[in-house]
Amino acid sequence: MSIFSTLPRLKAESLAHVSVQKWLEQTIKHPVDRQILASTARVFTYCSNLNLVSAEVFVKKLQLSLKHPVLYLDGGWQTLVDGLHQAALQAGVQIRSGTRVTAVCSQDDQVRGVQLSDETEVTASFVVLATGPDDAGKLVDGGAYTPLREIIDPLIPARVACLDVALRRLPEPRYPVVQDLEHPRFLSAQSVYARIAPQGGAMISTFKMLDPTQPGDPKQDEQALEELLDIVQPGWREVLVRRSFLPHIEAIGMLPTARAGGYAGRPEPEVPGIAHLYLAGDWIGAGFLSDPSMGSARQVAQQILADNRR
Ligand SMILES: Cc1cc2nc3c(=O)[nH]c(=O)nc-3n(C[C@H](O)[C@H](O)[C@H](O)COP(=O)(O)OP(=O)(O)OC[C@H]3O[C@@H](n4cnc5c(N)ncnc54)[C@H](O)[C@@H]3O)c2cc1C
Repeated sequence: MSIFSTLPRLKAESLAHVSVQKWLEQTIKHPVDRQILASTARVFTYCSNLNLVSAEVFVKKLQLSLKHPVLYLDGGWQTLVDGLHQAALQAGVQIRSGTRVTAVCSQDDQVRGVQLSDETEVTASFVVLATGPDDAGKLVDGGAYTPLREIIDPLIPARVACLDVALRRLPEPRYPVVQDLEHPRFLSAQSVYARIAPQGGAMISTFKMLDPTQPGDPKQDEQALEELLDIVQPGWREVLVRRSFLPHIEAIGMLPTARAGGYAGRPEPEVPGIAHLYLAGDWIGAGFLSDPSMGSARQVAQQILADNRR
């Protein structure tokens, strides 16, 4: 209770260089309380190695979650994608799907457009790479552009192993959200909160937070998630309609570490040395998860409008 009462007054930035683990040890004396908050921290930061993550991230996220509850979307995140797609079309955007960008074209330190996998080139006076860090790095100078490599190479992404199951019904409705105190695992029966399954059916999402410093074993991770389902939702195998396992999906392009000084260690949107080439995504600027994706996109859009006026 004392942590939650002091939380709104805490200056998260002052903990940028402190790891979550150290902050928990310094702040919370009772071992069970510490275990509960450590488990919450692993869920909030999508990382099982709390010695790595900056306490700034966790404290900021706790503060935000006290003010704004989690929202589950009817139709899942596809609803966001469809809405964005529609808004873009209405604004006159031309969308080319089914073809990848293979390279950024530049001349005299100035961006000129992009090359597509169907061999066509799209000319443009401004280019925004809204991919993860690895993909962005590969697109400039065949992956050999040193100023960008220097930004990207030290970044540590946070990855999770995900097992999603679609079921004919939810075997145990009493435990829709489960946070494992002993292992870095999380389960949420999202169909309890949003329309993402047919009437009477259920959709459960489970994930294991991985340790970026360890290689890991996908087979063991899958078994660990099945075991969590066995404990929380016994009988799930008998009503299984479909399952999907993703062994190491990137949850965040760049984990703000204590070593790099939390959010202050995040890259800026401008690519050094190539005018009018920008980066946007969850690894650019401050904030966590999709917040910085939106924030950096907005920042870049405003920058482009200002440059264009000039
Ligand atoms: C299990 C899980 C749960 C999550 N839960 C939440 C949550 O509850 N709330 C939240 O805010 N965030 C959550 N996240 C994180 C969130 O999904 C990411 O922060 C967000 O998707 C980042 O968006 P982005 O647009 O920056 O990058 P991305 O979503 O990674 O999009 C980049 C896109 O670029 C495309 N691309 C890459 N290379 C090329 C190329 N050469 N040419 C063309 N296209 C290319 C990729 O295909 C991809 O579609 C979760 C993540 C996971 C894995």
